[in-house]
Parts: sequence; C-alpha cells; structure tokens
Amino acid sequence: MNIILLGFPGAGKGTQAQKLQDAYGLRHISTGDLIRAEIEAKTPLGLEARDTIAGGNLVSDEVIIKLLVKNIKDETEGIIFDGFPRTLEQAKALDKYLAQKGQKADFVILLELSGEEVLKRLTSRRVCKKCGAVFNIHDKDFKNACAKCGGELYIRPDDSLESAKHRLEVFRKETKPLIVYYEKATGLKRVDGSKSIDEVFKEISAALGLSK
Ligand code: AMP
Repeated sequence: MNIILLGFPGAGKGTQAQKLQDAYGLRHISTGDLIRAEIEAKTPLGLEARDTIAGGNLVSDEVIIKLLVKNIKDETEGIIFDGFPRTLEQAKALDKYLAQKGQKADFVILLELSGEEVLKRLTSRRVCKKCGAVFNIHDKDFKNACAKCGGELYIRPDDSLESAKHRLEVFRKETKPLIVYYEKATGLKRVDGSKSIDEVFKEISAALGLSK
C-alpha cells in the first residue's frame, strides 16, 4: 500500500507519517528530510538547495525527483510520501515511476487546516537536531530538549514568519492543483488536521482501512 499525504506545510504530515510508520511498518519518506540531510552533509545538492529552502521556495522538480528515486531504492511498496509530490509535474513523474514497478498511489490523504492555524504551528515549531522529532512550544508538556532522545531543539530557518507565509503561497499556487488531480485519479480522503495528533491518526487509519 502506497500513501500520499497532502496538506499545507505544518499540517501534521510528518508527525502522522511517523506514526503510520511505527504502527503499520510502512516506510516514511519525506523529501524535506532528504534535502535537509543533503544540506547537513554539505553535498553539492545540499549547498545549492540551502537558500531555496530557507526562503520557502521549491527545489526544482528534476532535482527532487532524482533525490526521491535514489532514496526509494526500488522498494516501491508500502511507502508514505510526505511532502512529495508538490507540483503536477512531480505527481505525474511519481505515477509513471510507480507504474513501471507495477505499483500505484493507493491512497491520498489531505490533511485540512486553516492558513491561520498553519502559521501559528510553523512559527512555534521546534525540531530535534538529533532525531528529527517535532514539538510545539505551546504544548503543555513542552521542554527545551527533545522528549524522545534528549537532543537539542532548533527552529527551522524556513519556519520564520516571512518564510512560512511564503510557503503557504507556494502551496496555494503549486500544490493545491494536486487536490483536483488526485480527486479524479485516485480519490482523495479529507481528514480534519485541527484535531489532536491521536484523533487525526485514528481518522487516517480508518480512511486507510487499518486500525490500531
Ligand atoms: P518540508 O520539510 O516538507 O516542509 O520541506 C521543506 C522544504 O524542502 C520545502 O519548503 C522545499 O523548499 C523543499 N522541498 C521538500 N519537498 C519538496 C518537493 N517535493 N518539491 C520541491 N521542493 C521540496
């Protein structure tokens, strides 16, 4: 089963993908994480993409598709795509790539959240440098270190208010057309992303016909 998670940046795609991976043994692939790893390792791709990401713009389709394919490594079954595709071109490339392997995107889940709520979440998000776990400073049990591994927390450069606002615009322009595309191609399940993490997880599981 292959799943695509769609939604504004900050809608909870990464958090839910991680939970789906842990609960059902699916494989979480986040193109944002892949690029951040390239930046961290100071590879040529990472050095080239650093400013693009910090400014809240999209990395080119060509670069991102190559990076994704390199990391999938031919195991095209049981993947949760988080942050990919983000453009129609990417969606078509993914369809083609999966079809060559006799696979397809089986489910597309749209996590719905208002732009206002998304901005609030992005600007109060903290990420663990070590394990990538995501926290929010307004959570009642928030601590200034990672609750999972004790690692140091940081603010993503693209979570500044200016970058976050720009990312919402980029989503509206480049990624929103995918909603219509997948409504026609695969069918799309809408989930209310404003609910608690556990409630959203339950709804996604039910939409996938899985339960925990
Ligand atoms: P994310 O962690 O998914 O919010 O992604 C962070 C940033 O990485 C985005 O704002 C883009 O600059 C870049 N990025 C991640 N995925 C893609 C993609 N599918 N296409 C283009 N750029 C991407």
